[in-house]
Amino acid sequence: MELLFGSFNRHKADEIRLLLSPGIVLRCCADYPELAPVEETEDTLEGNALLKAQAYYQATGLPCFADDTGLEVEALQGAPGVFSARYAGEDSNAAANMQKLLRELAPHANRKAQFRTVIAYIDTLGDAHLFDGVLEGKIAHKPAGTAGFGYDPIFIPDTESTRTLAQHTAAQKNAISHRARALQAFLQFLTGSHA
Ligand code: IMP
Repeated sequence: MELLFGSFNRHKADEIRLLLSPGIVLRCCADYPELAPVEETEDTLEGNALLKAQAYYQATGLPCFADDTGLEVEALQGAPGVFSARYAGEDSNAAANMQKLLRELAPHANRKAQFRTVIAYIDTLGDAHLFDGVLEGKIAHKPAGTAGFGYDPIFIPDTESTRTLAQHTAAQKNAISHRARALQAFLQFLTGSHA
């Protein structure tokens, strides 16, 4: 079967391709010059993932899955959540986002947080399915490590006492990550249903 990954990121698509069973041909939005990126206008991870999967499914007619990820901090009522990429402003970068988070969290003793990835899948019939993957942990008091991206330098997974995700190798992160867990749930569903 042909399956569309609702993203323009060829690198992410290549990684996912390695995990798929041989009968599945994975396409990526970058393979379709007529496709334009969908603006993520919803205020939940589920909403944005569905928005993307539905739009690309309608444009191509291919069953399509799309993901959205956020860092949810308990003491901040789930912020930055769906706004993780632009927490410190529309043109913010990872360093500015982390600094803002550390500032906001400074008055709180509770530093519990989780990364959550939601995958929305629109199947061949146009029906929607949702999957999620969570990595629980806490926010460090200052950044450490250079691997990974985004909030990795200030996120300590619950499997560790002080080591941040940015101090994990890519393989170590992949073994526990929110994204890998969501993808695993989705791939299990695909294997079971062949939908
Ligand atoms: P996206 O939905 O995968 O584009 O993720 C949205 C934002 O969440 C990114 O711009 C990052 O700020 C943050 N993020 C997502 N995944 C990770 C991760 O694995 N580590 C650190 N930050 C992440």
